[in-house]
Amino acid sequence: MKAQEITAPCVPLSELPKPLDQLSESELERKACIGKVMTHTLQSLTSTFVDSGFQWLLPVALSQSTDPLWSDPGASIEKRIEIDIYGKVVRTTASMIIHKLVASSLAYPKLFILSPNIRIEKAERAKTGRHIYEFSQIDFEARDASSKDVFSLVEGAIVKLVTSLQKDLKAELEALRCEPLKVPTVPFKVLDREDLEAEYGADGWEAGIAESIKEPVWVTNIPREFDDFEDFATGKWDNYDLFMPNFGEILSGAKREWEYEKIMKKIERDEVKKENYALLLKLAKEGKTKPSAGAGIGIERIVGWATGVKHIAETQPFPRVPGTVNEL
Ligand code: AMP
Ligand code: MG
Repeated sequence: MKAQEITAPCVPLSELPKPLDQLSESELERKACIGKVMTHTLQSLTSTFVDSGFQWLLPVALSQSTDPLWSDPGASIEKRIEIDIYGKVVRTTASMIIHKLVASSLAYPKLFILSPNIRIEKAERAKTGRHIYEFSQIDFEARDASSKDVFSLVEGAIVKLVTSLQKDLKAELEALRCEPLKVPTVPFKVLDREDLEAEYGADGWEAGIAESIKEPVWVTNIPREFDDFEDFATGKWDNYDLFMPNFGEILSGAKREWEYEKIMKKIERDEVKKENYALLLKLAKEGKTKPSAGAGIGIERIVGWATGVKHIAETQPFPRVPGTVNEL
């Protein structure tokens, strides 16, 4: 079957994404078509980072220290996976944020990682279409960078990606999407979360913004994990999420904390276990952590946005729908 013959699901999916062995011929063709967009996206984004002087690090799966995913009000974790190896407790990677802070401070001033993340999301998130319990990020960090540096890097990466998708995968995009994929206008608007809360409410701003925007927007000043930079004098957070129209968040990032006293104060305030962040705290105390900024782009989310799928597990060869375990 040719890409043009695949019918785009312009109505909401009535079923959740299924594993490969349960797909019909035409559904398998559609899967392969999404796979082409995935390959193109990975090639385009990784080349942007390599061409901008970032070093490509390989990920790790097990560490004593991983992302606390707390106190991010958006997190919904049913279970944290901890196992014993060599007499030590290790956790599966929730994100490589701690590794990025250490690596960018000590050895790799500009780095990125294609990083598999395991977050056992609550089963009730199966139908959001935006959550899977194993996903991958293009996670990057740059020493001495500002939020503005990250904004322009990401905006350039997205414009380059969409321009090349339009050129190289025109038929596939037309087959998969109901509406054409447009090259976004840069620079993207920057909005403050406090203003959005005033408009849509504290629980509704993320859905509100995703539905109302026609172009991508940055949202800044979002209270969350201790490693995001918070100005204690103003109470403002120097961090950001990127929202895409009709889709929602595809990226979260921040300028980072690097000073021992602030990190410690925030860890204590959030009641995060200090012992899980002993190395970061030690390096910070010794003055070895350096200022940086970065972000993580959810790969299934950016491909989900580009292809217009109803559920991002459709971008996975082996879907990880919350609440569902398949043999593969
Ligand atoms: P976070 O810093 O927790 O927002 O994660 C970074 C990025 O990873 C987000 O902006 C999303 O694009 C992606 N992401 C986070 N959680 C999930 C999930 N459960 N399923 C798919 N992608 C996710
Ligand atoms: Mg986020």
